Amino acid sequence: MILDLHNLAMEIGLQAMGIAPAISEVRKAFPWAESVISAAICYLPPEQACENDVPKGLIARFARSSDYHTVLRKKLDTLSNAIMITHPSAQTKICVDTSPIPERKIAALAGIATRGKHGNVFVKNCGSYAALGEIITNIPMTDFPRVSDNFDECGSCNRCAGACPTGAIIAPGEIDASKCISQLTQMSGIIPPELRKAMGNRIYGCDICQESCPRNADIQPTSPEFAESVFPGACPDLLPLLELTAADFNKTIKDSSIGWIRRTRIRRNAAIAAGNLKCLEAEDTLNSMLQDENPIIRAHAAWALGEIEHTK
Ligand code: SF4
Ligand code: SF4
Repeated sequence: MILDLHNLAMEIGLQAMGIAPAISEVRKAFPWAESVISAAICYLPPEQACENDVPKGLIARFARSSDYHTVLRKKLDTLSNAIMITHPSAQTKICVDTSPIPERKIAALAGIATRGKHGNVFVKNCGSYAALGEIITNIPMTDFPRVSDNFDECGSCNRCAGACPTGAIIAPGEIDASKCISQLTQMSGIIPPELRKAMGNRIYGCDICQESCPRNADIQPTSPEFAESVFPGACPDLLPLLELTAADFNKTIKDSSIGWIRRTRIRRNAAIAAGNLKCLEAEDTLNSMLQDENPIIRAHAAWALGEIEHTK
């Protein structure tokens, strides 16, 4: 039986699929690897207007609808099963942000992506709103496309670096994670005070560099899996996030795409957002957070109250 992986990939709704050799970084983690199938889906959801009736947080586009990890893994499962049918002795390993392999470099080697100076990769018809996944296999697959590991398609543009509010894009494709708002919203612990204002009302992720990019200007949502907004959507109400109890977290957020950062980080980010929005409605809750048993919550609530106080 001849397996047409490319056709199958398109049939199951992957936006792109290519094959790369198992480079040394892959072999380090998976010594049996010979080839890597690199695949992409476009996670861009339809634009959602955020009404200003009550204070809102902001969620990055990759987390506004279905969890792309689940969607992509399911498609890669289908491809992997097809490989196992035609090659019963094959060994495969599916990765969707789960293995220490350089997925952007692999996608470029597989010919499905080009690099952007903002550190994300561009995939045809997705712009940089693309999620990558891989199937590592012990089957040698040839016909590797040419290497495309440069920033040629950005040309002299540097808009993303100029748009980044923290100066986190320090060189083409090189992001200082300690300054990147997307990373800050996800990391645990105390957010450096000097970076809190730049976070605005962001609760999870940051799209500023991608929004500034001319190569994303005409990109439209394409994947039906991301057509529906799923809680927390684009702009969740801020006060319920600040007041989030353990029971509420378990009931409403735990299984959402932001649930993995857990309750403390969500409340911490919501406190920073409340401070940046000068949110008078949050004062009572922030005051009660000063008594919280968690010092991270206390520290960020105090900072937010200081920001609100400055507006009076
Ligand atoms: S995600 Fe935000 S903070 Fe990070 S590099 Fe892009 S614009 Fe800068
Ligand atoms: S904003 Fe310009 S430099 Fe940055 S990724 Fe887009 S095209 Fe490249």
